Amino acid sequence: MTIEEARQEIEKLREFLHYHNYRYYVLDNPEISDAEYDEAMRRLLELEKLFPELVTPDSPTQRVGAEPLKSFENFTHPYKMYSLGNALNTEEFHAFVQRVRQATANKPIVWTAEHKFDGLAIELIYKKGVLTMGVTRGNGEVGEVVTHSVRTIKNLPLKLLGSVPDELVVYGEVVMHREDFQKLDEEREAAGEVPFANPRNAAAGSIRQLDPSITAQRRLFFYAYGVRFPDDTVILSHYDRMSYLSERGFSICFHRLKTENINEIEEYHNYWETHRDEIPYEIDGIVVKVDDFLLEQTLGYDAKTPKWAIAWKFKPMQAQAVLREIELGVGRQGTITPVAIFDPVFLAGARVQRATLHNFDEVKRLDLHYGDTLVVERSGEVIPKVVAVIKEKRPPMAKPVEEPTHCPVCGTPVKRESDQVGIFCPNPSCPAVIKAKLRHFVSRSAMDIEGLGEELIERFYNEGILTSLGDIFRLKKHRNRLIEMDRLGEKLVDKLLANIEAKREVPLDRFLYALGIDFVGQETAKILSREFGSLENIRKARFEDFVRLYGIGEVVARSLEDFFRDPLRSKVIDDLLEAGIKVKAYPKQDKREGKLAGKYVCITGKHEIYSREQLFQFIEAEGGIPQDNVTRQTNFLVVGESPGSKLAKAEKQGIPIIPMEEFLKQIQKG
Ligand code: AMP
Ligand code: ZN
Repeated sequence: MTIEEARQEIEKLREFLHYHNYRYYVLDNPEISDAEYDEAMRRLLELEKLFPELVTPDSPTQRVGAEPLKSFENFTHPYKMYSLGNALNTEEFHAFVQRVRQATANKPIVWTAEHKFDGLAIELIYKKGVLTMGVTRGNGEVGEVVTHSVRTIKNLPLKLLGSVPDELVVYGEVVMHREDFQKLDEEREAAGEVPFANPRNAAAGSIRQLDPSITAQRRLFFYAYGVRFPDDTVILSHYDRMSYLSERGFSICFHRLKTENINEIEEYHNYWETHRDEIPYEIDGIVVKVDDFLLEQTLGYDAKTPKWAIAWKFKPMQAQAVLREIELGVGRQGTITPVAIFDPVFLAGARVQRATLHNFDEVKRLDLHYGDTLVVERSGEVIPKVVAVIKEKRPPMAKPVEEPTHCPVCGTPVKRESDQVGIFCPNPSCPAVIKAKLRHFVSRSAMDIEGLGEELIERFYNEGILTSLGDIFRLKKHRNRLIEMDRLGEKLVDKLLANIEAKREVPLDRFLYALGIDFVGQETAKILSREFGSLENIRKARFEDFVRLYGIGEVVARSLEDFFRDPLRSKVIDDLLEAGIKVKAYPKQDKREGKLAGKYVCITGKHEIYSREQLFQFIEAEGGIPQDNVTRQTNFLVVGESPGSKLAKAEKQGIPIIPMEEFLKQIQKG
């Protein structure tokens, strides 16, 4: 390779990496897989090693992250926050061990190994034992202050236990547990929002919220993996430092290892590679560190990474499998979801043989045929998905997977809404739909009725004593019959009935969410409850009243109006009320303060730095009410770059128009 050829390839790689680095670190919205990114970075490092004269200070290899977002305050880290070098296989891990050994004249070394948490790195500063600051890594030198967000993390001590020095800097990872991630994504999907790609993005997106109340709803966890003391020589062992943190109130890796034996580390790695499902959080490898702080100091750092630690990554969670069957699920909105059934494969220790295909548009996109070889992946969620089809492996004469014409459960011809992906069963009394509605209604984030699981719903439905939501509260009439049922008995039945009684009185937002209205997730339900205060008010509201609210777009407003205006659909509410449910009114929050107090502000067009989400948060912070649409209430329209049709609409209605820059200046963000 000539230097000219290298120069050209390096240019391309840097541009590629800069862009995807920005998508990943600044926007929390990557377009490519980590593996693709890592691969490009490795290639760049390789070329820069071959041609050191081509290394420039602005190369992605020369910095740790991206520039921090402008909307958060910056903070210079007391100690630089480094990334970690990677080992992708045993050889690379051994090479790391070798490098450390050489630097230490082959003296025996004590190693520690722990999980590599897949989340967002955070630095916490404790003064006199009290949490005073939480900061993201940012570019390694300067991070973003997210104290308000990290304070909401429940497993993070706001005040340390026991005696501590005046100042303590703790490092760790903020993660979202798989289970919470799945729930969040289901809700986001139900609410018509874009789901997060994996728990890491969800955690990062939640920490970078300007509004801590949203972060608080997200159930994040913090796991500590490092600490700096005013006098670092008091505890020299990393392992003991972690025990110290654990005693002071932190969650740490509970499966850590300390050993002089490299084989044990390999076993540890292999064990967790195949058992990573058994812990609630995602890990993408293990981190191996030298235990002795003095040795750590001796070894020091490269530009980007410590020389005394390495991340030994796991293999990606992908596998190939042969498609045997397509199973059809019918959801609570009647949506028909195809599920791929394939020959069992092992993915990161779990045996899987089914994966969601989301909808039939996806089936078409994949051009799926029976007998096809699928690439199946699990990236955080427990339910794997089909990411690709290997066309070369398709058997001859394979039959394509076709969209069904009738509901697999009730046989009603399926329908397709022009503006939506996928097909659905339009029959409101389709048994599959009713049972799915019941399951949603009693679920933990909805009415939270314990003991009424899938199996009982099925049995009660078949008995004809549970065929509507209201029937749940009428079950007590059937007590004797229930006790007679196979495998139930008096004790269980009374417990179940007591659980139901305990939920007879329900807060408005839970009730709204439990109804399972299209696009109404928990957040939308909260917005509605805050704004309207009572069920009666909501039932009286019209499209116009919904659409003026921030967080409620036209699609959601239309869905709400359709539901509450259609006597057939809102009959379910009357049925529930008749069955004796009590919906508690919600404390109204209409006192607003700030420069925009009580003003309805709509935005069209973009800002080069601030996202729409952030602009909305600015408006809220000033007491304004951000809107997705220009309505009669709109007080003014803020116009950014390449504005849309809202501009013409506002002009026509004579609504005041303010340029973006001026607006930002007014609220002191410009
Ligand atoms: P990467 O982002 O893939 O370069 O990996 C480096 C990051 O791994 C660090 O910045 C930490 O945020 C994270 N990490 C996760 N678990 C650990 C751990 N046990 N020790 C150190 N860093 C960790
Ligand atoms: Zn049906």
